[in-house]
Amino acid sequence: MQGIKKLIRTVVFLALVGIVGFTLYNLFFLKPKVEGLSSLEKLPKKKEISLIISPRAYVDKVRVYALQGSREVLLFEGSLPKRVNEVRFTLEPRKAGLKDGDAKIIVELRRFYLLKDSFEVSAKVDTQPPRVQLLYAPYVILQGGSGGIRAKLSEPADLFVEVGGRRFRSYDVGNGVRIALFGVPVDTSTRDVVKVVAIDEVGNRTVIPLGTGIKRNHFKSMRIELRGKERIMIPKLKTILGGDNEELSFVELFKKVNEEVRRENEKKIAQIGSKSAGQRLWRGRFLQLRNSKVISRYGEKRTYTYGGRVVSRSRHMGYDLASVKNAKVPAANSGVVVFAGDLGIYGNTVIIDHGYGLMSLYAHLADFRVKVGDKVRKGQVIGYTDTTGLAFGDHLHFGVLVGGYEVTPLEWWDRKWIRTRIEPVFSD
Ligand SMILES: [Zn+2]
Repeated sequence: MQGIKKLIRTVVFLALVGIVGFTLYNLFFLKPKVEGLSSLEKLPKKKEISLIISPRAYVDKVRVYALQGSREVLLFEGSLPKRVNEVRFTLEPRKAGLKDGDAKIIVELRRFYLLKDSFEVSAKVDTQPPRVQLLYAPYVILQGGSGGIRAKLSEPADLFVEVGGRRFRSYDVGNGVRIALFGVPVDTSTRDVVKVVAIDEVGNRTVIPLGTGIKRNHFKSMRIELRGKERIMIPKLKTILGGDNEELSFVELFKKVNEEVRRENEKKIAQIGSKSAGQRLWRGRFLQLRNSKVISRYGEKRTYTYGGRVVSRSRHMGYDLASVKNAKVPAANSGVVVFAGDLGIYGNTVIIDHGYGLMSLYAHLADFRVKVGDKVRKGQVIGYTDTTGLAFGDHLHFGVLVGGYEVTPLEWWDRKWIRTRIEPVFSD
């Protein structure tokens, strides 16, 4: 009996020591930490703030206030319920009484009613969204076509054009003026709105929906029967795919190339197209392959059948131009070569950067006369036409990219269109 009592006493004693020790440890050694403090450094007109207290270390009250000059402004005060270690609040500096400028934000944690831990953040308060003065914007843009804007910003900000879920960056041309070229690729709806978005350094956002209408364009549909083309197509498909594809049927091979490889290639093109020079490298209209015949247009819908059954679909994103065999391919305009290599369905391909997001693409070439980094002049021969990639019959596939997206080259061949729609983007 005596032994058991002693044991219980010892256990109770050890438990008490444990609890007290654990509490003291939590209070004095385990300091609470706050995640999300950096979100207080830049304060726009309105911001959702989330602070995570971890380890929680008995924190039960959170108080956030600002010091600006000699004033103290309360921003948030609340208790932390059990099992919750996050406080969330909407911060509207002006409503709270803060002025634009510098401020110190203090996050104060209270523990056990007696201990206080403070964290200090130097903040910039800016509740003014950037003002955007539009100097030029197009009145209408054709589905598949291109356009450009010229705008002046009231303060340093990121500015871009947004349309159909795509973003087109702008470039600084001095004095707070920004220019952006943008495209409305073939899948852009006529109901989509072209918007100019500006976001300043602290995150204030200005959105201007442009009155630019998107005009419906007609794209041809084509049905292509694959049966009977096995002999000429299989070796080509296998070359494009590379590796071991012995177990795939003709239709499977075709689907893989026309869908998967095409998607990869377009991703690669978008990636190349997103890194353009911040200067204008081109002048005047773009050149079309000399003495050539258009054999396929931009935006063409292609439905592939095998024995009448639909097996695959794709969209043609450039112009196919046929001339003589191994015709000389001139650079459509001046620029810098940013890609010269094999590009799946496009075969041997050259991409020339003309600056400010504008590029031209030459596919199915025999080989190249240029390499990455070369400066090329308008009209300079960059290669020869052939049938590399997914091409049957010698031709040039010519594409124009804006911000990495393929748009119709037709407009860029047109002197008058460039003069009326694009030149205003570049002039004061
Ligand atoms: Zn083509």
